[in-house]
Amino acid sequence: MKLAVPKGTKDVLSIEMEKYRQIENIFSNVCKNYGYGEITTPVFEFTELFKRGVGETTDVVSKEMYTFLDKGNRSLTLRPEGTAGVVRSYINNGMTSLVQPVKLYYMGKMYRYENVQKGRYREFTQIGLEAFGSSKASIDVEIISLVNMFFEKLGISDLQLMINSIGCKTCRLEYNKKLKNYYEEYISGLCSDCKIRYTKNPLRLLDCKVENCQKVAKNAPLFMDNLCGECLNDFSTVKQGLDNLEIDFTINKTLVRGLDYYTKTVFEFISDNVGTQGTICAGGRYDDLVELLGGKQTPGIGFAMGVERLLMELESREINMTNEVYPVLYIATLGEKAYSIASKIAYELRKQNIYVDIDVSGRGLKAQMKYANKKNVKYVVVIGENEIASNKCKIKIMETGVEKQINVDAISEIIIENKA
Ligand code: ATP
Ligand code: MG
Repeated sequence: MKLAVPKGTKDVLSIEMEKYRQIENIFSNVCKNYGYGEITTPVFEFTELFKRGVGETTDVVSKEMYTFLDKGNRSLTLRPEGTAGVVRSYINNGMTSLVQPVKLYYMGKMYRYENVQKGRYREFTQIGLEAFGSSKASIDVEIISLVNMFFEKLGISDLQLMINSIGCKTCRLEYNKKLKNYYEEYISGLCSDCKIRYTKNPLRLLDCKVENCQKVAKNAPLFMDNLCGECLNDFSTVKQGLDNLEIDFTINKTLVRGLDYYTKTVFEFISDNVGTQGTICAGGRYDDLVELLGGKQTPGIGFAMGVERLLMELESREINMTNEVYPVLYIATLGEKAYSIASKIAYELRKQNIYVDIDVSGRGLKAQMKYANKKNVKYVVVIGENEIASNKCKIKIMETGVEKQINVDAISEIIIENKA
């Protein structure tokens, strides 16, 4: 019986894997230039972490988590996002006592029980980062500029950046009251989730995907018109900072983000090429999350980007992320003695960082030449009894078909000189 992969998951084969690797390398380079160090946290954590950190009324926690009991009856969950785990790690590892801000980036698989569609999978990859310990809006600007720079390094310079502010604890209290007042008359027509949101977490009402609820949300009072003085001030710092770096943005007053922990600045980078949602990268400030998860009051900000959505974006722009490498040398062999000489030459050259291929399948000469052609090899040499006896063999430049006679014991030297 042939077994399929579970819905919403996929194998990543070598050419595709190369793209992931390149994205990771470019991202990690940009992060390092901004002073970020890499962190890896467990793929599964106690369920409680996400319930508290992401929020029980969010879609992610209420509908999308892969939660299970392990053999010791502990409730564990495959991480649906990266921030909660990094915050937990920041607290557990005493990073509060380090010089602040502490800046961490990551790349890893995330798991959500989703309706699978274009750009929406059950296992997907995120790159992202978190910065702890700065409440200044200047770090908001720095992080947005980092994302922008990363996109530019990939050859993308025209995604739409949307920003908004969803206020702090203080102005949210007032805003929630206004929101509930507004929603009061529509309550009976809302979906069952929104009825719960109304009492538990009114801000979530604005993020509902049900059509009728979206209609109601459309005319709801806007957070932007209800910010306290400090939040307003911070938001202008963000706008000015982006202007200063000449990074274009649009203010989207209805942007609230799907996770509970955000405060003040929230942002998204949007594209038309990645399916219904269009969000490639999303992030924002979370000034109460560290405390909520049991740490000292510490401001934080971060973002996460879906790598599969990013790859779709690159593909639709015909930006090639593969960096296919071809063997510099193929040594075709006839007989065991030739093979042992060839394998020694290959071993030496590989040690020198040169990609060499030899026959390990017992193919005949003709089949070996066919193989070398398929592999786009640069040079081919053939060694058999005669070549060994005379120490003379032919090296062929595959592109031009030109052949030259060289000494068998000089193969390595010649390849090292001509590898480029
Ligand atoms: P959406 O509104 O598209 O469901 P979200 O608000 O749930 O997104 P976040 O939790 O902010 O997304 O995740 C950040 C990014 O991770 C998204 O912008 C997207 O690029 C990617 N992402 C989220 N969920 C998925 C998924 N199921 N499959 C692939 N990528 C995803
Ligand atoms: Mg989602």
